[in-house]
Amino acid sequence: MSDIATTPELHCRSEETSNEISILNEKVEELARALEDTKKILQNTEDFYTEKLETLNDVVFSVDLQGRFTYINSAIEHITGYKVQDVLDTPFMQYVHPDDLPKLLAEIKLTLAGEHKPYMFRILKKNGEIVYIHTTSRAIFRDNKIVGINGIMVDIFQLKKVEKDLKQERDRVQKYLDVVRVIILVIDRDHNVSLINKKGCEIIGYTESEIVGHNWFDTCLPDREKDDSKANYSDILSGKKSIPEYVEGSLIKKNGEESIFAWNNILLKDDMGIVEGILMSGEDITQRKKLECAFIEAKALDENANRTKSEFLANITHEFRTPLNCIIGYSNILVEELSDSLNQYHSKYLNNISISANKLLELVNSVLEMSRIEAGTGKLECSEFYVPTSVRCICSNLMAVATRNNTSLSIELSMNVDYIYADKPKFEQILYNLVNNAIKFTPAGGSVKISANVLHDNGLVVSVKDTGIGISKADLQKLFKPFYQVDSSLERKFGGTGLGLFIVMKFVEMHNGKVWVESEEGKGSVFSFSIPLTQPDQPKRSVLSERT
Ligand code: ADP
Repeated sequence: MSDIATTPELHCRSEETSNEISILNEKVEELARALEDTKKILQNTEDFYTEKLETLNDVVFSVDLQGRFTYINSAIEHITGYKVQDVLDTPFMQYVHPDDLPKLLAEIKLTLAGEHKPYMFRILKKNGEIVYIHTTSRAIFRDNKIVGINGIMVDIFQLKKVEKDLKQERDRVQKYLDVVRVIILVIDRDHNVSLINKKGCEIIGYTESEIVGHNWFDTCLPDREKDDSKANYSDILSGKKSIPEYVEGSLIKKNGEESIFAWNNILLKDDMGIVEGILMSGEDITQRKKLECAFIEAKALDENANRTKSEFLANITHEFRTPLNCIIGYSNILVEELSDSLNQYHSKYLNNISISANKLLELVNSVLEMSRIEAGTGKLECSEFYVPTSVRCICSNLMAVATRNNTSLSIELSMNVDYIYADKPKFEQILYNLVNNAIKFTPAGGSVKISANVLHDNGLVVSVKDTGIGISKADLQKLFKPFYQVDSSLERKFGGTGLGLFIVMKFVEMHNGKVWVESEEGKGSVFSFSIPLTQPDQPKRSVLSERT
């Protein structure tokens, strides 16, 4: 047996080698333990993320370059009804709605080229229903090469539903806007039209595309108004001026025709309160304006003609009154001064002249009063006077007529009737006309009664009651019109002009009072009027104010 191995040198070397081997073994074991630890950490990390991914409501997926799912989380089951194992290793295209596939493929190409644009498409669920999906994805790189796509799919059914509801709502509103016969218009901050209804387009003659997105002022306003309108609009947007709720303005239609529009406007603001523009609704009022102008012109002409007529009547009646007063005056003098030398015929003739001249004077006075009323020149000249005195005065003035007519005339005044602040001549004229009529339209043997009372709400109320011929219902409505007479025939029994009641009504109205009549044919009439005890211009210190 050789003894080489036992040489001291060799022995030393073999000891070194075995030491190294054991160190190496230790290292290997250490590395194996580290590897085991790393694997555990990796497993834990993977478990952690898988658990997280599995709890997501949205689908996380990976597909390879053949379009096969290499990973998908369990949310796919909730969204589509397919299980994870059904889907894994199958091509995604089989789940996409065929109509959306070409667009989706084009968009995937862009993703692979590095664009990260989200896209939307429809997926067919296991039960055939449709799901709307929103996807964001990125290319997966390994060793600088694209090996697939990672992405997230979100079910946007609710969002789509809201969008659909909104669209339906918008379509419905659009229909309303299209039906109304006005222009509905939105002008944005840049003076451009952002919305117009169909009817609006029809009215101004432009198509929607010719007007939407174009400057409203430049397109539809006459040159003379453009600059001012733009400046106004800018002031409104900047808050310098408040928006006018209603304006009228000109508009040039596409055919060049100029029309007048009435605009109602409101400011449109966003959620933050920032002004986005103006909503306007416009109605073509060209015809109405023309009619208004024509009406104003016609009214002015009519008023002019009326004024001329009234002035003429006032002048002519005034001219009549002077000679009439002369005739009445001289015939009275003749009767009084020559009564001894006149024979009975002369006296009768002179008396007839006086009666006829008085009637004519009454007529002339009525016409003069009416022309004053129509010309608006008749004014109240009020003073305080004692009503019982005025009533008695009218009564005694007409007593002769009543006696001639064989009609009894009486007065019945309430205790509370005393002073009133009114136009005395007009008050007496009202009473005169009513009592005169009552006597005139009451056959012989009848009676006429004047009564007066002061009522809390109405002031002074005066009534003239007769037992005369009465008035039919149909005629009651027309009595107060000028020149109206129930019997207008030439053969009528009763004289008159048809102006008495018109004057009564106007004078009462001038006093802020009311006039009314109750009557039945053949059963007499009651004509009443009420006037306030005072008038707005009444001086402070007076019997009346002291009394109240
Ligand atoms: P006039 O008496 O001069 O014809 P009025 O304007 O005073 O004009 O009256 C208009 C008409 O109303 C009269 O013509 C008459 O037909 C009718 N009328 C007025 N008062 C009475 C009355 N008390 N009784 C019946 N009819 C009356």
